[in-house]
Amino acid sequence: MALTGIQIFKLLPKTNCKECGVPTCLAFAMNLASGKAELDNCPYVSDEAREKLAEASAPPIRPVKLGKGVRETTAGGETVMYRHEKTFYNPTVLAATVSSSMGEADLAARLTAWNALQYERVGLNLRPELIAVKDSDGNAEAFAKTAKLIAETSEFNLILMSDSADVIKAGVEAVGFKRPLIYGATESTIDAFGEIAKAAELPIAVKADSVEALIPLTDKLTAMGVKDIVIDAGSRDLKGSFADQVSIRRAALKGGNRSLGFPTITFPCEMAGNPDMEALIAGMFVAKYGGIVVLSEFNTETLFPLLLERLNIFTDPQRPMTVTEGIYEIGNPDENSPVMVTTNFALTYFIVSGEAEGSRVPCWLLIKEAEGLSVLTAWAAGKFSGDDVGVFVKKSGIADKIKHNELIIPGYAAAIAGDVEEELPDWSITVGPREAAHLPAFLKAKIGA
Ligand code: SF4
Repeated sequence: MALTGIQIFKLLPKTNCKECGVPTCLAFAMNLASGKAELDNCPYVSDEAREKLAEASAPPIRPVKLGKGVRETTAGGETVMYRHEKTFYNPTVLAATVSSSMGEADLAARLTAWNALQYERVGLNLRPELIAVKDSDGNAEAFAKTAKLIAETSEFNLILMSDSADVIKAGVEAVGFKRPLIYGATESTIDAFGEIAKAAELPIAVKADSVEALIPLTDKLTAMGVKDIVIDAGSRDLKGSFADQVSIRRAALKGGNRSLGFPTITFPCEMAGNPDMEALIAGMFVAKYGGIVVLSEFNTETLFPLLLERLNIFTDPQRPMTVTEGIYEIGNPDENSPVMVTTNFALTYFIVSGEAEGSRVPCWLLIKEAEGLSVLTAWAAGKFSGDDVGVFVKKSGIADKIKHNELIIPGYAAAIAGDVEEELPDWSITVGPREAAHLPAFLKAKIGA
């Protein structure tokens, strides 16, 4: 259980020296308990107290690192029930399943296809992270071989799934260097699985048949010194598993239940009869509150929407997504290519650049810093004024790249045209379309195409 403010206060020096930035040790204790202060802000905490207090300042759901390399990721670490309260931190990890008895050629073909499922969006590379290797027949050698092939020939990280400690051990020996997640220790296998996880310092998932039954399992692992735990409450029906996710999140965050303060693993692949339903269930877990979602396979029709949903839910609602201010080239522009200017709101950039690319008219796109606001909002907030735009265009260096002097401003910012002209007296200012969708026709007309 997390410590209360008063319990924390009892462990502090009680000198009220104010070095932590608040007037009293009691105020600091209260801030620490509510997550508003860092323990390191008090330089006088004893080592013994520090150890106890570390628990109070730890996230209520432990962040668990999974895998190694470019697809390394973290599950858990969440601090709120609802995204609008603050933000969600660690995006739901997406996994697909392969059987340990799958033929080598079949597996290699899948890896090639799945590796290609990467999508550029708002400057990010959206892609899944894990492959779950499922033990199909208790053959430890085949299991290890399959896991090894994935680890050595792809970027994917792994979940090692078996009921047998011997099979898991073989898998860990083969791919332990990739920090795989061991799945899943039950009441009868917790000792053997726990020892493997502890010895190899790997994360481990526990599986029970209810939320309550998870508690003794996580407590046992914690007592063994295994801290990176993932939990599966066992339910495989839609209503039950959704209720489990909410109960676990609520118990960890609101009830301070450290035994349930771990990311969850969910299995839409075991809950649906067809890929469409599987994707819908996966979408539910991305929203609430799956730490890891295991699918039967990756395909672009279901993976892309899930990645986009994940991107939307796990972006900080208090920070607009932005792109860097500067000059962006679209389609190898030259000295005669049109020049457009807009704001640095990521969505604005990607919609405008996408339409411009689609038009096949090479052009220059100037992105002006506007605190990540869209054109109309930025203009209304005084972040995209005519003076500012004019100064930015001068400083951008675009004049050295072109031989004409026409600047296209967004239709929604038509009102700034006069002020831009005043700031850029040698330029002619053209008001572009309001909607990005009309940009291709506008650009084609401009070059007479
Ligand atoms: Fe108390 Fe430490 Fe803050 Fe000083 S720095 S007031 S000892 S909590």
